[in-house]
Amino acid sequence: KMNETWSLVDDYMAERLLPRDAVLERALAANKAAELPPIDVSPCQGMLLQLLVRMTNAKRILEIGTLGGYSTIWMGQALPADGRIVTLELDPLHAQVAQANLAHAGLESLVDIRVGPALEQLAKLEEEGAEPFDLIFIDADKPNNPAYLQWALRFSHSGTVIVGDNVVREGEVVNRHSTDPRVRGVRAFIDLLAQEPRISATAIQTVGSKGYDGFVIGIVNAG
Ligand code: SAM
Repeated sequence: KMNETWSLVDDYMAERLLPRDAVLERALAANKAAELPPIDVSPCQGMLLQLLVRMTNAKRILEIGTLGGYSTIWMGQALPADGRIVTLELDPLHAQVAQANLAHAGLESLVDIRVGPALEQLAKLEEEGAEPFDLIFIDADKPNNPAYLQWALRFSHSGTVIVGDNVVREGEVVNRHSTDPRVRGVRAFIDLLAQEPRISATAIQTVGSKGYDGFVIGIVNAG
């Protein structure tokens, strides 16, 4: 019953506040047709990412976990013409669907999809001497969240905004005895944030069409 209300409110807000966007709707349809899991951000969350791109004037974005590129499109739509998103995806099918969705969105030239385990791709990016990113969205396999945070810090400058999704997991995050590797990954991620002086962060619980979850948002401090 609560879940139903959350969904209704999410739909209401999305319908009222978000631009109707055929490109984004088509991306979700293409994901479904290709049988990708429906674990993209919700439309209202996509809009939040887009607003963050604008609020931070982000030009360079790193996304870990592309899926079909739904969140990538939301962020890409707010990028200036000389902006760039590097997005990392393990599954070649997901990457292929994302590539098509991004091409349809006219964002192909701004987005660099890199296929393979994100940890390998991150090491490769460093070898290439990648410039720091202004906004980093961590949304892949949760057991690797602590490692992704370490990499995110390496690719940051003071003022870089880091967002990590799915950190509440229906409240399981407070279960210190959880054996779920995703919960353990998220708890280690929170522990790392707690003891990391380079970043100031908070976590916001969310309810909506994707159930009960939440995200971490932080900023890399000066010095
Ligand atoms: N950000 C996407 C969106 O909102 O549209 C959703 C991403 S989905 C929650 C997580 C993605 O991470 C999946 O497509 C999955 O294949 C990918 N993934 C899982 N393990 C990975 C790894 N080790 N390296 C890179 N990507 C991985």
